[in-house]
Amino acid sequence: MNSGTAALHLALAALEIGPGDEVIVPTMSFASDAEVVIRLGARPVLADCDPRTLNLTAAAAEAALTRRTRAILPVHYAGLPCEMSALRRLARRHRLAVVEDAAHAFPARHDSRPIGSEGSAVAFSFYASKNLTTGEGGMVTTPHRRLAERMRLLRLHGLSASAWQRRERGAGYDILLPGYKYNLGDLAAAIGRAQLAKAARLHATRERLAQRYQQALGQLPEIELPPFVAAPDHAWHLYVIQLRLERLRCGRDEFAAALRRRGIETSVHYRPLHMHSYYRRAFGYRPADLSCAHRAYQRILSLPFFAGLRPDAARRVITAVAATCAEFRR
Ligand SMILES: *Cc1c(COP(=O)(O)O)cnc(C)c1O
Repeated sequence: MNSGTAALHLALAALEIGPGDEVIVPTMSFASDAEVVIRLGARPVLADCDPRTLNLTAAAAEAALTRRTRAILPVHYAGLPCEMSALRRLARRHRLAVVEDAAHAFPARHDSRPIGSEGSAVAFSFYASKNLTTGEGGMVTTPHRRLAERMRLLRLHGLSASAWQRRERGAGYDILLPGYKYNLGDLAAAIGRAQLAKAARLHATRERLAQRYQQALGQLPEIELPPFVAAPDHAWHLYVIQLRLERLRCGRDEFAAALRRRGIETSVHYRPLHMHSYYRRAFGYRPADLSCAHRAYQRILSLPFFAGLRPDAARRVITAVAATCAEFRR
């Protein structure tokens, strides 16, 4: 696919999600997950997260169930797999599709199986910032042959034959369905092949960096560390700390501004979807409606985290975080 968003859109379209249907979407995520549901005429029902992992829980998904629910869309936040056994049990019990957003989760594993090997369909993103990149790009995996065929068809205008097949067979094409223009370009695919050869090394580098942060920042009582799972389970796409605000005389934004003054840029993943104007306006959400995500949003901060971050730069991050904790300590 040409993006992770396209992968999500196509998976739901191939499952024939449409008007009158509901899809359970974690509020602690990116715009794509709810937007593609809306673009198919269905309704995203936003669900709360676990306060520690920030992942959708089976309990939160169950609370969001209605008669109209057709699918659950778990996002493996930061690269840590969701509790898939419980989510799959829930889906089986209610005959729901499970479409995973694995934009953060290459190459994570769950129960020693790669994320992407199970479920209805699993969407990956190869956007510039992701663990494996093609500049812009994406992928969808499915163990279901019929769904795969349908997604292949929809990916390129619903044409009965690819350009390659037409060349081989010398035949024309037939338009079987109104599809999309969602194919990955050849240039992007070439970048992806080179990235794939480096993927294991880049992942090991991310894991070492996570370990280094974990050890150093674990000394600071003002900071709650992300849950640590040894490789190869965690893809380590993001490193998100949670500030213990009760121990600090500042809020998250002030903490981030102080880090910026020390030369360290941070980011926030994410402002929960239900707190954005559109979702408040269209569905009447109030911030406290999904209270774990709302509370987590006040405390989360994504530290600089990428495979090219050298040990001396990581030390600078750690020193700046420690100095900022000292500055605002109660
Ligand atoms: C990046 C991302 C997407 C979208 O991927 P694109 O390739 O940019 O379309 C979707 N969901 C999550 C959680 C992401 O981080």
